[in-house]
Amino acid sequence: MSREIVVVGGGAAGGTAAQFAKKTDREAEVTVFEAEEYPQYSKCALPYFISKKVEHVIEFTSEWFKRSRITLFLETTVKKVDVKKKKVVAEKKNGEVIEKEYDSLIIATGARSAIPPIPGVKDKEVVTKNVFSLRTLDDAYAIASYLPSVKHAVIVGAGAIGLEMAEALYTHGVKVTVVEMLPSILPGMLDKDMADTLQKMIPHDITIFTSHKVAKVNREGDVVNEVIIEDENGKQQTLETEMVLIATGIKANVELAKKTGCKIGGNGGIVVDRRCQTTQRNIYAVGDCTEYIDFVTRKPFLVGLGSIAVRQGIVAGVNAAGGDRVLPDGFVQTRTTKLFGVEVAAVGPTTKQLENLQPITGRFTGSSLPDYFPGGEDVTVKVLINPVDGVLLGAQALGSNAAQRINTFTCAVMNKMSIERLSQLETAYAPPIAPTLDPITIACDVARMKYGRRK
Ligand SMILES: Cc1cc2nc3c(=O)[nH]c(=O)nc-3n(C[C@H](O)[C@H](O)[C@H](O)COP(=O)(O)OP(=O)(O)OC[C@H]3O[C@@H](n4cnc5c(N)ncnc54)[C@H](O)[C@@H]3O)c2cc1C
Repeated sequence: MSREIVVVGGGAAGGTAAQFAKKTDREAEVTVFEAEEYPQYSKCALPYFISKKVEHVIEFTSEWFKRSRITLFLETTVKKVDVKKKKVVAEKKNGEVIEKEYDSLIIATGARSAIPPIPGVKDKEVVTKNVFSLRTLDDAYAIASYLPSVKHAVIVGAGAIGLEMAEALYTHGVKVTVVEMLPSILPGMLDKDMADTLQKMIPHDITIFTSHKVAKVNREGDVVNEVIIEDENGKQQTLETEMVLIATGIKANVELAKKTGCKIGGNGGIVVDRRCQTTQRNIYAVGDCTEYIDFVTRKPFLVGLGSIAVRQGIVAGVNAAGGDRVLPDGFVQTRTTKLFGVEVAAVGPTTKQLENLQPITGRFTGSSLPDYFPGGEDVTVKVLINPVDGVLLGAQALGSNAAQRINTFTCAVMNKMSIERLSQLETAYAPPIAPTLDPITIACDVARMKYGRRK
């Protein structure tokens, strides 16, 4: 009898898990249940779909699943898992119930936008027409179809999605204001000094309020027309708007896993081990519905990166099909984005995320090419090292090839390299490609010297 593998959720994590389960055991019967009407698509592409930089976001079509001999049910929600009978109960949009037995179950239910309790945003009586968040393709369609009536938009949250959307709306000629509660933009990725450098590169006609929170929104009928923001001293001001986009993070979809008896961690995600196994036998979990250990801080964090979701999907898919793969002993959270032409990337915790450990830092801005060669672009690099043993904890970069430069640091963080060793890094050099000493080496050297001078 062939092995039955059931996947709940056909996003990046679930789709990848199904693919790798089938690659591992060609005879296995793999079934994916997906609540939405679309087969696997790229959520990361949605801001570019709205700005019209990309036209299609579907990554694996229904035909692809068919060719791969993976059964895909769309518009079908798994309502219940019967652990004793090892079967799932799913319901199609038309009410039809499907029961499916499993040998291995993979929960990949993802996350939804977290909506803070801003007075006026949610009202049981009136549905707010022009308050959006961006998580699904339907959210993107809703935003795109509302845009023609928008001249001003307020974005709540200056994380990667908030700022990518600021750029997307800006390209549509919308006057954008971004409101961030914390003292700097991209707070999950950059230290304040790096964020402030980046903020100066964002077009000045995008207004950014940091250290401000949204106190409430005012409505005219079912439409929000004013956003009241407040600084740290309680001073308020009113922003007129035709649209509000809330980009303040995610909440893991763990209701099904919880009902199934899987342990939920302190960050609200399903707890998984290095094999993506939950606390229930034969049940794996992957992607944004899970939490995992951070490589540097050793603390669990809620997975919210497609890069990690896919890596978990591979491991769970292989293991669910009888193979044996493990995740690394913690994720370093390598992350990147591009904002208004500037590449931004980071690996490891920011200074704030390191909490009580005050890192020694090295920061350098240089050119991507030798000074005499035309076409060089600014690159700013910052490294964070452990003041106790000189080991690299994280790095942040802005500008040309920031992501690839950070990938080099990822390798160093994963291998716990000392700043002494890292500042000896031999980087390739030729005038049209790179300077003799890459900015990453010089930033390391700054940190190395500070580390040498420490008391
Ligand atoms: C706008 C945006 C931009 C992003 N940009 C980046 C980026 O540049 N880089 C990066 O690394 N990450 C990025 N991310 C994050 C990345 O998209 C997510 O980490 C990734 O999509 C997680 O995949 P997932 O499969 O775990 O969850 P999801 O993609 O949320 O998929 C979960 C699926 O499960 C389905 N589901 C839920 N419950 C059930 C049920 N009971 N039955 C059946 N189906 C169910 C849902 O409908 C959903 O389709 C971005 C996210 C967004 C929203």
